[in-house]
Amino acid sequence: MASGFRVTLLGTGSPIPHPDRFGPSTLIEAGDQTILIDAGRGATIRMSQLGIPLGRIDALLLTHFHSDHTVGIPDLWLTGWLSSHFGARRKPFNVIGPSGTESLMRHLEAAYGHDIEMRIEDEKLAREHIAITVKEFTGDGLVHEAGDLRVTAFTVDHGDAIKPAYGYRIDFQRRVAVVSGDTRYNENVVQYARGVDLLIHEVAMARAELLQNPLIKRIVNHHTSPQEAGLVFTRAGPKLAAFTHLVMLASETVGAPTVEELAAATRETYDGPLVVGEDLMTFEIADTITVRRRG
Ligand SMILES: [Zn+2]
Ligand SMILES: [Zn+2]
Repeated sequence: MASGFRVTLLGTGSPIPHPDRFGPSTLIEAGDQTILIDAGRGATIRMSQLGIPLGRIDALLLTHFHSDHTVGIPDLWLTGWLSSHFGARRKPFNVIGPSGTESLMRHLEAAYGHDIEMRIEDEKLAREHIAITVKEFTGDGLVHEAGDLRVTAFTVDHGDAIKPAYGYRIDFQRRVAVVSGDTRYNENVVQYARGVDLLIHEVAMARAELLQNPLIKRIVNHHTSPQEAGLVFTRAGPKLAAFTHLVMLASETVGAPTVEELAAATRETYDGPLVVGEDLMTFEIADTITVRRRG
């Protein structure tokens, strides 16, 4: 049986189409369990860079229904069904998420019904391996358990009109990683992440001259600023804090903030261990946390 607890950022981006930052998706490998939190743009390409067959995923967990977190689902689901070495799923596609997940997945089944029937007829692929099982939840609590792996969902605050929205706490053999999901500064993240090994948090930033722009203002108001994230890190006190889902806003005339500016702004409120995530960055969680790049 495989051992070890690893978290890999498959995509650290946002809706902004960026060649270096794919859509939000975080891979968790815990013992013999492999789960994915969200499936944004390009999640399948990142898995292929890691040499992990798409069919290997035991469960996909969704934080919320913004398209940047879900557009990779049909690719993962359908390509993962193919017989080739990069697919090879030999079980139903297992999805866990807030209320609304069932509807999303049933509509995808309808949208791709023609493809599915063609491949069953032509490639003799098994219908039971393209089947989708869905487990929905409606509030904070344990949503997934397999061996020593326990996943707990907790409510976050992504804005008054953007509900439901959740973060996840992943417990494995007394080690803990927390993924904030998309959220403004939120007390629940601090509560669920207190003293954990790894806290992965979203962040949004724009240069001061852009903050008067109403569109930019609205986006920033749905997310956590670097200073607010620093406050979350200071209060939760994880062994390591890391950023993902970098919303680095720009306009045609004002450039996006740099990673250095992001780190400097976070340092206004936090002086502990901090990493700005990149696609394919892996955190090996043991007595210490090792950060390396895979793929
Ligand atoms: Zn997002
Ligand atoms: Zn969102």
